Amino acid sequence: MTQSNRRVFMMQLAAGSALLAASAAQAQAKLDEDDAQATAVGYKHDTTKVDAKKFPKHDKAQKCSNCQLYQGKVTDAWGGCPLFGAKQVAGNGWCSAYAKKA
Ligand code: SF4
Repeated sequence: MTQSNRRVFMMQLAAGSALLAASAAQAQAKLDEDDAQATAVGYKHDTTKVDAKKFPKHDKAQKCSNCQLYQGKVTDAWGGCPLFGAKQVAGNGWCSAYAKKA
């Protein structure tokens, strides 16, 4: 390998690593409570902080980790939810689309 080829290879390696890091960060992006989609369904990272007046049927035992739509494991602090695409929701979170896991 010539010195020029080695330099090109190292640059490609660095670019590939940066791309991988960027896609990993995107896959793990957490949902912002102030996101318009999140506020539309009353999402909170902490189920105990849900507005009881606005959501009188909410129960503090309801949380993402025991919701049918939660894609993480029950013990995961964060996991996917199809409502929010690639963004992760808190296992301890809640939104008005909650559906108890069977
Ligand atoms: Fe959490 Fe379920 Fe609402 Fe998704 S649908 S944010 S898992 S309560």
